[in-house]
Amino acid sequence: MIHKFDAVVLGGGAAGLFCAIEAGKRGRRVAVLEHADRIGKKILISGGGRCNFTNIHCQPENFISANEHFAKSALARYTPADFIALVEKHRIPYHKKTLGQLFCDRSAQDIIDLLESECREAGVQVFVQSRVQEVRRTTGFVVGTESDEFRAPALVVATGGLSIPKMGATLFGYELARKFGLKIVATKPGLVPFVLAGEDRSRYCDLAGVSAEVIAKSDHHVFREKMLITHRGLSGPAILQISSYWEKGRPIEIDLAPDREITPAIRAAKFRNLTAARNAFQGSLPRRFAERWLENHPPAAWNDEALTKWEKQIHEWVIQPADTEGYEKAEVTAGGVDTAELSSKTMESLKVKGLFFIGEVVDVTGQLGGFNFQWAWASGTAAGRAL
Ligand SMILES: Cc1cc2nc3c(=O)[nH]c(=O)nc-3n(C[C@H](O)[C@H](O)[C@H](O)COP(=O)(O)OP(=O)(O)OC[C@H]3O[C@@H](n4cnc5c(N)ncnc54)[C@H](O)[C@@H]3O)c2cc1C
Repeated sequence: MIHKFDAVVLGGGAAGLFCAIEAGKRGRRVAVLEHADRIGKKILISGGGRCNFTNIHCQPENFISANEHFAKSALARYTPADFIALVEKHRIPYHKKTLGQLFCDRSAQDIIDLLESECREAGVQVFVQSRVQEVRRTTGFVVGTESDEFRAPALVVATGGLSIPKMGATLFGYELARKFGLKIVATKPGLVPFVLAGEDRSRYCDLAGVSAEVIAKSDHHVFREKMLITHRGLSGPAILQISSYWEKGRPIEIDLAPDREITPAIRAAKFRNLTAARNAFQGSLPRRFAERWLENHPPAAWNDEALTKWEKQIHEWVIQPADTEGYEKAEVTAGGVDTAELSSKTMESLKVKGLFFIGEVVDVTGQLGGFNFQWAWASGTAAGRAL
């Protein structure tokens, strides 16, 4: 069967649905093709099932891209306040967690219901279980699925990144971009736990489950949040954040006692010894972790000079991750369709008229904390307004 639309959107995730809604509200006839059996599967598992749908402190600085200016225009034209207004229109109860992160009180299903209801209102037609087999360009675009053909003058690629392949992530968007001659910035897993190897692994991984507030640093990037020891390495928000900036082979630095000095208590103690050192970590690190770290990194001596050096070591613990846990555990894919190929106002390809890329498939990656959905809403809206 042949269907004719004003625009076909590939991918029924956050960005694709939002784009379709915006275009539908403007009177465009829009089809969304989703290969899974339902839309928004990733939304459902996001934010631990409660969907961290935006962040009230969202700024362009919260995004990683080869072109740090690219996201500014779209982010300015669809803000967290705009999405919050939509959430409130649908009477979805939500709450603020740390660092400006907004979550649903009940479940991420509320956000999916919101998107479905807006799709209905805007007349968007959603085709699930639609596996795209070919995309051709004639005067417009022709998209072939197993049973149907969709024709439209505009094609929006919103097929997401490579993270969580078992949920349906595919290379599709990148391959399509390449097919039309667009460049891709090399992709890598982002917001992903680190794997430790060798000594680091044998020294710490049996403490899996232990967490502490730290400052994780890599190059000039600094995140003060929780770090969690896992069976294979390190995780927790501080580590996930830094992982998006990490290049394989580089070390990371961890401050184990942010804003605190550990050695004054040792210097003041009656006996300067391991017991005094262990006690000095109280309030900074869980006891088991402090003991283990001390076993592996005792001060060279107990005199003032050695303690000064040791204090520095506590704030600059150098770890060499062997790798990350890869796309299986990554929340996002960094890299993607090169922003130099796209209009920052509309997300349309500068080379191929009528071809748009939005959401995670584009080389714009948000930090942890609701920024990736805000990019999906904002880039989807930018394209939806141009269809
Ligand atoms: C576990 C987890 C938790 C997360 N939590 C948060 C959070 O709380 N807050 C936040 O901001 N971000 C979070 N993220 C990131 C966020 O989910 C993504 O950045 C966001 O969903 C990207 O939106 P998108 O529409 O670009 O891609 P997706 O949401 O991935 O949607 C792409 C859609 O395209 C479909 N598709 C793929 N290939 C094809 C094809 N060939 N044909 C048809 N359809 C296709 C997919 O099935 C999918 O439905 C989380 C990610 C994960 C993995």
